[in-house]
Amino acid sequence: MCGIVGYMGPRAACPILIKGLKRLEYRGYDSVGLALNESIGFHLFKTKGKVADFESKITHTYTTGTGIAHTRWATHGLPNDTNAHPHLSESGELVLIHNGIIENFLSIKSMLLRKGVSFQSETDTEVLINLIEYIKNQDDLSLEEAVRLSLNEVVGAYAIVVMERGRPDKMIAARLGSPLTIGIGDGEFFLASDASPFIEYTKNALYLEDGEMGVIIKGKEVEIRKITNNDRVVPSIQELRMNLEEIEKGGYEHFMLKEIYEQPRSILDTMRGRLLVDESIIWMAGIWDYKERFIKAKRITIVGCGTSWHAALIGEYLLEELAQIPVEVEYSSEFRYRNPIIYKDDIVIAVSQSGETADTLSAVKLAKEKGAFIFGICNVAGSSIARITDAGAYTHAGPEIGVASTKAFTAQVTVLSLIALKIGKHKGVLNVPRYRLLCNMLNLIPDKMKEILEMSQKIELIAREYKEAKNFLYLGRGLNFPVALEGALKLKEISYIHAEGYPAAEMKHGPIALIDENMPVVVIAPKRGYYEKIVSNIQEIKARKARIIAIVNQGDEQVNNLSDHIIEIPDIDEMFTPLIATIPLQLLAYYIAIMRGENVDQPRNLAKSVTVE
Ligand code: GLU
Repeated sequence: MCGIVGYMGPRAACPILIKGLKRLEYRGYDSVGLALNESIGFHLFKTKGKVADFESKITHTYTTGTGIAHTRWATHGLPNDTNAHPHLSESGELVLIHNGIIENFLSIKSMLLRKGVSFQSETDTEVLINLIEYIKNQDDLSLEEAVRLSLNEVVGAYAIVVMERGRPDKMIAARLGSPLTIGIGDGEFFLASDASPFIEYTKNALYLEDGEMGVIIKGKEVEIRKITNNDRVVPSIQELRMNLEEIEKGGYEHFMLKEIYEQPRSILDTMRGRLLVDESIIWMAGIWDYKERFIKAKRITIVGCGTSWHAALIGEYLLEELAQIPVEVEYSSEFRYRNPIIYKDDIVIAVSQSGETADTLSAVKLAKEKGAFIFGICNVAGSSIARITDAGAYTHAGPEIGVASTKAFTAQVTVLSLIALKIGKHKGVLNVPRYRLLCNMLNLIPDKMKEILEMSQKIELIAREYKEAKNFLYLGRGLNFPVALEGALKLKEISYIHAEGYPAAEMKHGPIALIDENMPVVVIAPKRGYYEKIVSNIQEIKARKARIIAIVNQGDEQVNNLSDHIIEIPDIDEMFTPLIATIPLQLLAYYIAIMRGENVDQPRNLAKSVTVE
């Protein structure tokens, strides 16, 4: 995810673009770039770092009226000056900004390399601009036609803006999967990932739909066409009624809620180019390159902190069940100080959203010193952990602004699921029909998540009833025990209600003493996996008069009869219930916290990236 912005009109583009970038920085902030287009050619500036640092580097006052700019959230290639956008084509005739992932960039790149094209960066984006140039030159096409034909060759997600050298009167914009809005002013055009960069100049916005492109020519109306067949589409211009803050939050009241709702999309991004469901192929270079090591591994240790540690616990169940590799999960802070026994053939997986978590970074360094092979699962490309590991897989969840992790957690679990499936298949532990079935089911997760998100009103009503609670207990078994931990952590983090997660059967060994009519107990009780056992646990709780909120599969009667409230989730293979069952718990914590008047995006005492031990 990144922020893109463009301007064409009578004003100087540069200050508009920079201000726009600042508003879009919540979408990504590892490098910045800008290209101005004059009849004599481009002025291109780009650098690693934040917009504020970048701004001071443009010392000249440009009056140029056409330009594009980008704030990057790296997916392909480190966050450095070269990989920063905009990207020029090889000849320097075309320039492009891009938000998204070109899944088939490697095959396009090999084709272009064979044709003699050379590349400066490691990005998928530079491949796209060179494809456009190649197609354009082959048949001497217009820019719009070359962009259109190229996009028909591309698999993946994009919002792009392209310009041609010396043509400050023309821009081509297109989208599939990533957002792009065109602001239409009086004789001027704005392009942006959301309307925040142009809200003060115009309230007229044209939201490009997936599969559409816009041909923007000075002095003309914007022309919208279908990328597939070039058919004209009648543009629908809307009048914006939102304020700036609402736009940045995509119309949601808080970043946390926005990120909860983004999950169907972020999971798709996590799986994009990796889970090729029609072929039942899981493509992960970081695993493939070291597959022997994974197949022969006698033990995997997963380290993490907080929510990442919960994802690691789910990873333990997945890897042991699907790939039959013994797994230990450790708090990074404990691991690093206790002289852990690490053998040379050990694999250590480090899980961290920011990739900067101090304890996890130290744990990784220690394991590395002891000779282990280190695999990283991080959300931030080019982060310290991502750089120090031997291999890894990014979660591609996009920037997470809410301090309490939501979409990064489900993306971590998705990456761990893909890894477990891939190793299980190569090791021959998973038979082909089960592997295929699981690939298909994983592919369905985004849709299943949407179903749950539609029930938010019901969850809000439940939250209303329990918002004054002093304590909460969360119970689950198997893969859903870490989900219980995560549910309790979310509630603690943002509502400041004391909450504990427990394996449901362990409750009898202590926490049951706390249960009375004032204790709400959240039980994760899907049909698959230990159902009868958890029903017995619920009976035990009921006998102590606790109030029960149960997460059950649709149509469940047994638990329904015992519970005060049920939240129904779709039925899915046990392996993937954590991805589904987590969503209502995130929403429950969110609603309780806002009903208590808490600042859910910035809870007290917490920081997004814990860079101190
Ligand atoms: N895939 C592109 C890159 O890595 C764009 C990423 C984005 O959407 O921020 O540079």
